[in-house]
Amino acid sequence: MFCNQCEQTAQGTGCTIKGVCGKSPDIQSLQETLLFALKGIGAYAYHARQMGEREEEVDAFMHEAMFKTLTNVDFSIDDMIATVLAAGRINLKAMEMLDRANTKTYGDPVPVKVQSGTVNGPGILVTGHDLPDLEELLKQTEGKGINIYTHGEMLPAHGYPKLKKYKHLVGNYGSAWQKQKREFAEFGGPILATSNCIQIPGDEYRDRLFTIGITAIDGVQHIKSRKDMSAIINRALEIGNLPERNVGAMTTGFHHTNVLALAPKLIELINAGKIKHIFLIGGCDGAKASRNYFNILAEKVPRDCLIITLACGKYRFNDRDFGDIDGIPRLLDLGQCNNSYSAILVAAALADAFKIDLNKLPLSLVVSWYEQKAVAVLLTLLHLGIRNIRLGPSPPAFLSPNVMAVIQEKYALKLIGDPDEDLREMLAGR
Ligand code: SF4
Repeated sequence: MFCNQCEQTAQGTGCTIKGVCGKSPDIQSLQETLLFALKGIGAYAYHARQMGEREEEVDAFMHEAMFKTLTNVDFSIDDMIATVLAAGRINLKAMEMLDRANTKTYGDPVPVKVQSGTVNGPGILVTGHDLPDLEELLKQTEGKGINIYTHGEMLPAHGYPKLKKYKHLVGNYGSAWQKQKREFAEFGGPILATSNCIQIPGDEYRDRLFTIGITAIDGVQHIKSRKDMSAIINRALEIGNLPERNVGAMTTGFHHTNVLALAPKLIELINAGKIKHIFLIGGCDGAKASRNYFNILAEKVPRDCLIITLACGKYRFNDRDFGDIDGIPRLLDLGQCNNSYSAILVAAALADAFKIDLNKLPLSLVVSWYEQKAVAVLLTLLHLGIRNIRLGPSPPAFLSPNVMAVIQEKYALKLIGDPDEDLREMLAGR
């Protein structure tokens, strides 16, 4: 299908010529960026709305910004840049809204150690981001002898008091989305997919996979209402016992509420030189070999530095023991990608305590991006004026060379490079 203006460029690939419509590749690039960000904001707003939270300002922006992506509406570079940055501001509101929804419904997360593997007995694996789906499954399986496991972005659920109270929420199985074909095949029991980042299943587990809510795959059973999970529950009982597999443990649940409670101690340790630098290493994971950069970097972070992480990129290193600094764990998992909100609050509180600009903190952000929510989060960080973010594994293809150059100049956005060289620069505040 071709562009309906010049009929020479394939739709969705980005205009590389200035076609008859007169739209420059840079406007096209900004419109595509905006569109991807809107998809990410839409995901957060959808989850929040499921729990009764919505904001008129977010809804209104979605409508206006969608309108701005229509053909021949907005040919002003300055105006489009302003709208793209406004998407970052609105995404911050959407993440705040989702955090409010999650914490009002399930309480403030607390740090928790989560067992990885399976225990003897029937089990169901829950993947995706939707906490109410998990809660309903926990309610409906209570007392039935079925164990519930989290996968991927569902891991942070273990930290929420009103979810962790269920004794049969026994642990986590597996890691990030790109490994699900192997992990779901090996798991053995049924799997509930509650949101995006679900792959087309292989035959080994197609008849054990169930979708729910926003998620659907042709040929896969769909649960129409979370109020009736009997199909997946019966499948788990039919399959029967899963084997005992102990593959270690990981921690999660470092929400801003409990990290901020540690702020006085963090400040004391930073002032005493015991904590030299804080690295945020997180974001979406993916299959590219160049993503090894993120685990290599995490391993090279000096022992007098903390690592904050979030989203599924953490599975590259969250099973390792990073130790602690005077009782503060060196690896703090804040949760899902939307918990970037927590990271922002922690950084803002530290900047406030030290009475300095965010960019002067001994803090470096290393973001792995893959899908649209990561685009929205990146725009939020740019909207806040955060400089020197390192992004990888590759530059977003939808950013035209000119748009990329503007972002790099204004925000000193860098692409990931050599881990040792990057580490040296970040420790030097660049
Ligand atoms: S962090 Fe990104 S890639 Fe990973 S599951 Fe969430 S949305 Fe998908």
